[in-house]
Amino acid sequence: MKKLISLSLFMLFILSCSTVPITGRQRINLVSDAEILPASFAQYEGFLKENKISNDAKMTNDVQSVGKNISHAVDKFMRANNMVSEANSYRWEFNLIEDKAVNAWALPGGKVVFYTGIMPIAQNRDGIAAVMGHEVAHAFAKHGQERMTSAYGQQLGGIAVAISTNNKDPKTQALWGTIYGVGSQVGMLAYSRTHETEADKLGLVFMTMAGYNPQEAINLWIRMSQGAGAAPPEFLSTHPSNETRIQNLKAYLPTAVKLAKQYNAQ
Ligand SMILES: [Zn+2]
Repeated sequence: MKKLISLSLFMLFILSCSTVPITGRQRINLVSDAEILPASFAQYEGFLKENKISNDAKMTNDVQSVGKNISHAVDKFMRANNMVSEANSYRWEFNLIEDKAVNAWALPGGKVVFYTGIMPIAQNRDGIAAVMGHEVAHAFAKHGQERMTSAYGQQLGGIAVAISTNNKDPKTQALWGTIYGVGSQVGMLAYSRTHETEADKLGLVFMTMAGYNPQEAINLWIRMSQGAGAAPPEFLSTHPSNETRIQNLKAYLPTAVKLAKQYNAQ
């Protein structure tokens, strides 16, 4: 019996290996969409109920229209690249909440939140598209599922707790907070360096596909490093240095433009 269990665990690991489209990075994801998506949607709904949705019509409209355009680009990519059932599993949604934290995050299945505090740094629709491309990319590349898989390795039972759709349970809340940065100031940048760099690259491709100016992603990070006049955001110490990030974005920009053209022509 024991042997059977370890053999099936081994098989599970083998079956869980996959490649991130576009970047080609190998990943291990033990969390199925059927398990995670209902929990993710419940978490998102709970968050929106407990937080104040912005009543600034213009900013809300900017966030939602940019979100719609970029998710269309991702959807187009998936449908043209043998990912139709995945494309169908996303329930894209974009909300702006009233909170001065410089933050944005995305949950599995395409549920995105922007905080009003990031808007002065985003500054314009191309800047919003840079943040949005990055967040949509986290959802597209299933970084959350990967993080949950590693949380499972570190803390047995973590997945069971996180997948519980009882979003009032403090244990569930805490785990989602850790994995996705929900409700914390560090959400957008709390992921590992690998995930951040990957989301930056994919985000550049998707924002360009959707017709936004990818150069603005570089400008955004310059503004971010200057703290846009405010005290330096709390997350500045937890992510790849802005300098590295800006260099990486500059280096990848021509590739992103080329790929965007290629994918739009598919
Ligand atoms: Zn990120």
